[in-house]
Amino acid sequence: MYSCVLQASVSDIAKHASKHALDTYQHEMVESLRQLVKYNTVAVDGVLSTDNPVHQAFKRELAAQAKQLGLDYTDHGYVVIVGYGTGEERVGMIAHGDVQPVDPKKWAKSPFELDLTTEPGKLLGRGTEDDKAPISNALYAMKTIKDLNIQLKKRIELYVYMAEESDWQPLRDYIKDHSLPQINITLDSEYPVVTAEKGYGTISMTFPDKVIQSKALYLREFSGGFFGSQIPEDAQAVLANASATVVKELQQRAKTQQGMKYSFQRKNDDLVITALGKAAHSSKPEYGVNAITHLASLLDIKRWPNNAGGSLVNFINDNLGIALYGENFGQIAYQDDFMGPMSVQPTVLKKTNTGMELNINIRRPRGKTELQLQSEIEQVFTQWQQQNKVNLHNKKIELTDPFVQTGAPQIPTLLGVFSHYTGIENAQPISIGGGTNSRLFPNAVSFGPAMPGKEYTGHSEHEFITMEQFLLNLQMYTAVLVDLAK
Ligand SMILES: [Zn+2]
Repeated sequence: MYSCVLQASVSDIAKHASKHALDTYQHEMVESLRQLVKYNTVAVDGVLSTDNPVHQAFKRELAAQAKQLGLDYTDHGYVVIVGYGTGEERVGMIAHGDVQPVDPKKWAKSPFELDLTTEPGKLLGRGTEDDKAPISNALYAMKTIKDLNIQLKKRIELYVYMAEESDWQPLRDYIKDHSLPQINITLDSEYPVVTAEKGYGTISMTFPDKVIQSKALYLREFSGGFFGSQIPEDAQAVLANASATVVKELQQRAKTQQGMKYSFQRKNDDLVITALGKAAHSSKPEYGVNAITHLASLLDIKRWPNNAGGSLVNFINDNLGIALYGENFGQIAYQDDFMGPMSVQPTVLKKTNTGMELNINIRRPRGKTELQLQSEIEQVFTQWQQQNKVNLHNKKIELTDPFVQTGAPQIPTLLGVFSHYTGIENAQPISIGGGTNSRLFPNAVSFGPAMPGKEYTGHSEHEFITMEQFLLNLQMYTAVLVDLAK
């Protein structure tokens, strides 16, 4: 459908502004990011962003930076707007100030201290790529336009939303009673231009506890995962009554898996297996190694007796395996030519009062209705429960629709700027697996901050943006704002 989207050429004034930004603001922009990263703006369960002291402190920092740069700042609670210029016609940039949870043990320095030294050339820290670096970029792009006193026909507004990772309802509420810019770019995804996003979904169910008292081999426990939108890198299993032969067999099997590290430890009569894979954003499972599915697959040496852990592992091996796209999950797998395949990945296990809850994250392209998918998933539940004599509790299927942008007049400008600054010719719109809040804004498409085909590190335990990319983004955002607002 986007077989040939034309590119607009970059104006001289945009090129000039972009160079000025690069020559002038490299150092200050790093300092801006350093301050923004300090705040652990993760959502706290049960606490509104507007009552969260860390969120308030982050916003005070943002307000101070805006003021110092001569930009205007309006606090609407969950939504903060930093703006420059006047006019009914507006160009919007959309970013978010909240971050995902983090495990500090996995970082060389504190994830809330911008780390420029551990890996030279990289700015490491929670929220660097997702989504605080783009906020600093946007501030200095606006500052540059102000410095050069470039005459604009449109006002520029940066929207910083404080709950993108946890709750979109406050943003929907805001949008109901406020007018938004007529065209928007979301700075929370990748280049060249994202015009389609998969729909987000969660399939969850609880495997009931059952006490097993036996001298034979069984699975005492199975646990793993961290949060819903992260491909998990940790998982653990505890086996009761594992013989030396079984241990040897498992160790042999472990060697055949790529990208996984295992440790085997005897604890009294139990065998504890600890699995380490690689975390990634759950919309990009190709970049991770899922510790839960790999450990389950390692344990696929027998049919496990049906306590919570045993039936859970049986279920994963029957319906998921280590496949990424739901190929083994009944009939659910499908794909779209432009948007790619649906991904189907277990991400987090939670202990509940009655058993073990499995959460499977899915990202779906257009091509199937919610109803069809729902009924295909239910079929798997029904069949598997019958065959295994397990009664799954709390079965839930939550699906959102994919988003496809068909308008957006700014696309030729964005593609032109991208090609000019990266040297990548004939760039064309793409589709991604992640979901941004683009869909809530008129004529919105995503533009950066990550390069296509490069590993996306947001949501991982190794989040960074390279200095090169940070500066390239400054140049591209500056040029785009000039050409869209002038
Ligand atoms: Zn984000």
